[in-house]
Amino acid sequence: MTKYLIPRVVGLLAILTAGSSAQAHPGHSLSEANVSHVLTSPYHLAVLAAGGALMLAAAQLTRQSVSQRLLRSGGAVALLGAVVLWSLPA
Ligand SMILES: [Zn+2]
Repeated sequence: MTKYLIPRVVGLLAILTAGSSAQAHPGHSLSEANVSHVLTSPYHLAVLAAGGALMLAAAQLTRQSVSQRLLRSGGAVALLGAVVLWSLPA
């Protein structure tokens, strides 16, 4: 059990660090932008997709089935949401 503890902790820290430092792009905070911009900007959609991918990766590191399901579901919704929003006509 402890054999896998260090790689899991390192992986989780890497995911949390990447997630907390993710920014769509410089120039405005999320609260300063209008909804249309947030839902159509490639930068914001890329961050949404990356967040989904990180959630899917985090699901691989957890052993609790409830946490795995939540992370997988959230990651899938974020990735699919990014794809759907990206494909909508402007
Ligand atoms: Zn923006």
